[in-house]
Amino acid sequence: MAWEREANDGGEFQSPALERLVRGLSRLPGLGRKSATRIALHLVARESPADELLGAIGAARAQVTNCGNCGAITEADPCRICTSERRDQTLLCVVASPVDVLPFEKAGFYRGRYFVLGGLLSPLDGVRADDLPFDRLLARVERDQVAELIIALDASVEGETTALYVQRLLQGRHLQLTRLATGIPVGGALAYTDEVTLQRAYQFRRGF
Ligand SMILES: [Zn+2]
Repeated sequence: MAWEREANDGGEFQSPALERLVRGLSRLPGLGRKSATRIALHLVARESPADELLGAIGAARAQVTNCGNCGAITEADPCRICTSERRDQTLLCVVASPVDVLPFEKAGFYRGRYFVLGGLLSPLDGVRADDLPFDRLLARVERDQVAELIIALDASVEGETTALYVQRLLQGRHLQLTRLATGIPVGGALAYTDEVTLQRAYQFRRGF
C-alpha cells in the first residue's frame, strides 16, 4: 500500500504529531525508525490498543518497584520471595539482573532467595566494583547467615570477571560458594535459558 512505502522510505509524515510519536517510539530499546513507524501507525489506527496500553504503562510506572532486600521486580517491598517462610534464607542465588530471577521461578525447583547485582563488572564499559552493591551483598550474607551462595551469571567475560570478584570477596568465610554448571550456552544470557537446561545447570552446580 502507498502508506507503507511512505513509512519505509525515510521521509516524514505530514503530521508533526505522528512524527513526534515515531521519534518517541524509536528511542525505545530495539526499535529503529522503521519498526517505530509501523507501531505508531498501528497505535493511531481506529482499532488501536493505545488506550489500554496507556493505562497499563501508567499502572506499571506507579506500582512497579525493586525489592529493597533482593532487587527483584515487585509491587510489594520486600517482595514475596523475601518474605516467604518457605524460602531458605541461608541459600542465596546471585544474579545480574531482575529478569534473571524469572527463569528460576518459572522452573520452580529453587527454594532459596536472591540477590540482584544490577549489572556485571566490565572494565571496558567503565563498570567497576564501586558501581555494584557488593557491600550490600556482604551485609546480606552476614545478616542471613548464608550457608551456600550460588553464582548464576551469564557465561560471558563480564559474568566470569564478576564471579571471580565475588569469589575473592567471600574468601575465608564459612560458606559454600558454588556456580551453575556448564550448560548455560557460552555467551548466552541466563534469562533466556530454558527451564530444563537451567535445572540441570543448578543440580550440577560446582564449587570454585
Ligand atoms: Zn526480595
